[in-house]
Amino acid sequence: MDLKGKNCLITGGSRGIGRFMALHFADLGANVAITYASSSKAAEEVVESMKSKGVHAKAYQADAVKFEKADEVIQSIASEWGSLNVLVNNAGITRDNLILRMSEDQWDEVINTNLKSIFNYCKAAAKPMMRAKGGSIINVGSVVGLTGNAGQSNYAASKAGIVGFTKSYAKELASRGIRANVIAPGYILTEMTENLSEKVLESIKSETPLGRPGEPEEVANTAAFLASDLSSYITGEVIRVDGGMAM
Ligand code: NDP
Repeated sequence: MDLKGKNCLITGGSRGIGRFMALHFADLGANVAITYASSSKAAEEVVESMKSKGVHAKAYQADAVKFEKADEVIQSIASEWGSLNVLVNNAGITRDNLILRMSEDQWDEVINTNLKSIFNYCKAAAKPMMRAKGGSIINVGSVVGLTGNAGQSNYAASKAGIVGFTKSYAKELASRGIRANVIAPGYILTEMTENLSEKVLESIKSETPLGRPGEPEEVANTAAFLASDLSSYITGEVIRVDGGMAM
């Protein structure tokens, strides 16, 4: 697989799945910009590591919820590197609670961070991708958006919303050569999942036909395929990377 010459932006690239995607894309020859919320040191380490692979790399501190910031980041990449070819909307959070106990803030924070951010970045990316006569957008959903999960109504709603948004975007922009797809990971080993109780972990494993959690690299491999020209006839698709959990 080859991403040489592609200019990519990955939101939430300082840690977890986004960090692995950034490093993998750089390994494949892409220039990669990442955004993050507050982990400046971690983000700079990712940038240094990517630069050592001989590609252009950059980090932006940019709260994904902020509409104007998305446009600013994307315009900066397009003007510095000449174009934007691949956008991965990966930044996401959880604020779990049962609906009866969920606060308005917990609902709003998750919907804004996980779903509004997708609108912000996809809208901002449309013009530079149209100018480049094509592009690939990869939105990171979750199997929870397909199945629902008790205690995660806010998260599940945000991730289900991503599927509807992405299919609409794919239909609106296909004629411009822009593809948009969703990756729906299952249970992946990152900081987001490190605080789950043993009981929850065991039940996740028992519900996963492949019998183990996923590694961030396994999601990064799928993202690289969708970013590359090997997936040139795939748009509006939802690809689960979940060990069979939601089949
Ligand atoms: P992590 O918590 O490990 O990393 C989250 C990343 O998102 C960090 O880089 C963080 O930046 C960034 N981020 C969070 N909020 C914002 C914000 N407001 N603005 C900009 N960046 C932000 O998460 P994962 O790697 O586990 O998850 C990545 C994606 O994969 C998420 O969308 C998640 O919902 C999805 N996913 C994860 C699964 C899993 O099992 N891990 C399963 C299914 C889906 P900073 O370091 O500065 O905080």
